[in-house]
Parts: sequence; C-alpha cells; structure tokens
Amino acid sequence: MLEVAEAIAEVLRHARPLGPVSMPLGPAILNQVLAVDVVADRDSPPFAKSLRDGYAVRSADCVGGTPLRVVEEIAAGVMPRKVIGPTVCARIFTGAPIPDGADAVVMQEDTEPADGGQVRINDPAVRPGQYIFPRGTEMRVGDVVLAAGTRLNPAAVGVLAGVGCASVPVFSWPRVAVLATGDELVGPTGELGPGQIRNSNGPMLAAQVARAGAVGHDCGIARDDGNELRSKIGDALAGSDVLLLAGGVSAGKFDLVPGVLQELGVVPHFHRVRMKPGKPLFFGTKDGTLVFGLPGNPVSAFVCFELFVRPALRVMAGDPEPGPRTASLALAEAVAETNDRPTYRPAKLEAGKVGWAVRPLPWAGAPDLRGLQPADALMVLPAGDARYDPGMPIQVIVIG
Ligand code: AMP
Ligand code: MG
Repeated sequence: MLEVAEAIAEVLRHARPLGPVSMPLGPAILNQVLAVDVVADRDSPPFAKSLRDGYAVRSADCVGGTPLRVVEEIAAGVMPRKVIGPTVCARIFTGAPIPDGADAVVMQEDTEPADGGQVRINDPAVRPGQYIFPRGTEMRVGDVVLAAGTRLNPAAVGVLAGVGCASVPVFSWPRVAVLATGDELVGPTGELGPGQIRNSNGPMLAAQVARAGAVGHDCGIARDDGNELRSKIGDALAGSDVLLLAGGVSAGKFDLVPGVLQELGVVPHFHRVRMKPGKPLFFGTKDGTLVFGLPGNPVSAFVCFELFVRPALRVMAGDPEPGPRTASLALAEAVAETNDRPTYRPAKLEAGKVGWAVRPLPWAGAPDLRGLQPADALMVLPAGDARYDPGMPIQVIVIG
C-alpha cells in the first residue's frame, strides 16, 4: 500500500500538460495558465500622468504663495496644448497628461482661487515629481509582463486587456468525465425506493472539476453490473483526458470497478493508499487518459479528489504549482485522536490576531458530507496517537 506522497508522485508522473489553445479575453480564462510570454506593446502609462485633481505647476514657482495664472484645463483623454512657463499653471484632472514645463501637481485641496483667473498654492513644500506617475512606470514596451506558466487571476485579465491581448494563448484544460457507480444510487429528481440514496458524488465531483479550472461532464450513474459498467465506462473513457469513477473500488462482492477497468485495457498503477478516508483509491491509465476509481463515501471521494485528482488536472492545465497546497498553521482548539492511518479531517481556516489558525469541524466520518461542507482545509493527523494542544502547529491542506 502506497503512502499519500508516493501516490501523489505516481499520479503526477502520468500527468502531462495539454497543448495550447487560444481563448478570447474574458472571465472564462480565469484559472487557466498562460502558454506563452506576454509582452508590453507600449509603455504604461504611455505619458506622464496626473495622480490627482489639481494644478500642474513648476515646483520652483510655488514658494512664497504668489498666485499662478491658469492657462488651460487638461481633462483625462486629451493632450495639453500649452507649455507651463514661469508663474503659470494648468488645471489638471486625475489621469490627464502632464503638460511640458510642469514638474509637479498640487492637489486641488491645497489651493484657493485668486483674482483674475489665478490660483494660490497653499501647499508649503511642493516636491518635484509629486503626484506624477512617470511614463513607463508600470511597464516598458517589450517587457515580459506575464510569463508563460502564469495562472490567470483577475489582475492578470486586466494586464492582458491593458496590453491589447484580445486572444489569449493558454494551455488546454482537461476534459473530465464523471461516472458514479452503485445499485443504490438515484439521480437528483428520482424517487427514492427502500434502501436507496441520492447520487451526491457525481454533481460534487463535477463541481470540484470546475473549481480546478477543468471541464467536467457528469455521465450519471452506472449499476453494479459488469455489462453496464463496461459499456458506460467505455463510453466515458472515449474523448476524455481524465475519467473519475466513484464507488465500487473496495473489496466487496459488488466492487467491480477495478476488474472492469482492467478488462477495458486500463493499466493499474496503484490500488489502495495508506490514508483515512480514501484508502480504496484506484489509479490507472489508458492511452494517456488518467483513470481514478474514487471510493464511494462522499467525503472519501472529495478528499481523494483534492489530494490526487486536482493536482493532476492542474499539471495537465500547465500549472507549475499544481498543489496540493500545504501549510503549517496553529491549532485553534485541542485535537486528540488515535488513527491507524494518516487522517485528513475537515477543518476551517480562521484569521486570528497573530496569523492564520485552523479549527477542526464537527464531523461524523466518511459519509458525512454535510459536516465537510463548511471546510476550506483538511487537517493532516499522523497515524498513531495524535494529541495537539491549542496553538501547536499542524499541517493543513488548503482546498479550493
Ligand atoms: P462503495 O465505495 O461503492 O462501497 O460505497 C461506499 C459508501 O458510499 C456506500 O455507503 C455507498 O452507498 C456510498 N455512496 C456510493 N456512491 C455514492 C454517491 N454517488 N453518492 C452518495 N453516496 C455514495
Ligand atoms: Mg458501491
């Protein structure tokens, strides 16, 4: 049985970045990874600009409170026509180009009107350069403003817009098929008969796939029947980069998934990982498609997704930092547990006075998806007697 770290390494050994595609600039590129360097097409700002509403002045003229004559008004989006010579200034607004001759801006609040279209400067110490954002401060033409491998966040979308990049080359995101298995499962609108439960895993896993920046296709439910599994798994494998199966991977009589996968030509790489929940996890590949047989208990499926599937999806999407994202945080309350395997427990991050802390959530075990729902982290408890006092550091995996 593999340790978690070994199993993650084995999965990532089989995950390869997909080819580049071009996407229109827009919110859909969020979380995708840039496939090429993006270069500034011009200086930004393209001209020295004012950081305040006020007056563009020569700083040397602002001593002694002599009024300055206002020669023009410069709004954002227009070019100045006048040069600022001795004892004159220009009314200027935030974002407008600084006129030639001026070397500072005085805030409107530090001025008062004087006779004959003049303005008195009350700022006692006007510094050269004040409230001016010089040309090229943010970027120079030719600068690499976003490097290949950058995960696109909202600020990156703004930077791309700023350099006129309307069509963005990103790594293709994996197509992921999700198939829940189990005789007891009923879809969200179906009537529940005796002994039946609803299929939580299919929709949950498709949502986890979407949150990881990939495209999930929920293929519904397959019964614990060899023929039905062969046919539905065969269909789901076709055209998918990743196949997620949930249920039917344990050691019971009706756990047919690993056998069917091997009949379909999926090469097994591991089956079972020393962890709780999630021990029965199966992983194999077929012709470059990654196949995960996740355990059926919803929290087990969720945890296995975050530990093994999400990093694989991020590698395929070109992310140089695929996770899982770990951190060592202070415990917000005592934990005492005895486990036979390393245990991943739902937990909540808390912003404390001296930094982030983590608090275990009340949770009834692998079927308790409701207990997991508020979690934004998994606390990692080592095997054996785990006894931690409040304030002690503990390893967490940040999810989402
Ligand atoms: P299995 O891994 O198939 O042995 O299933 C383990 C447990 O998870 C059983 O109690 C199943 O009823 C439950 N389970 C399996 N699949 C799902 C699902 N899609 N949604 C909710 N519970 C499930
Ligand atoms: Mg089952």
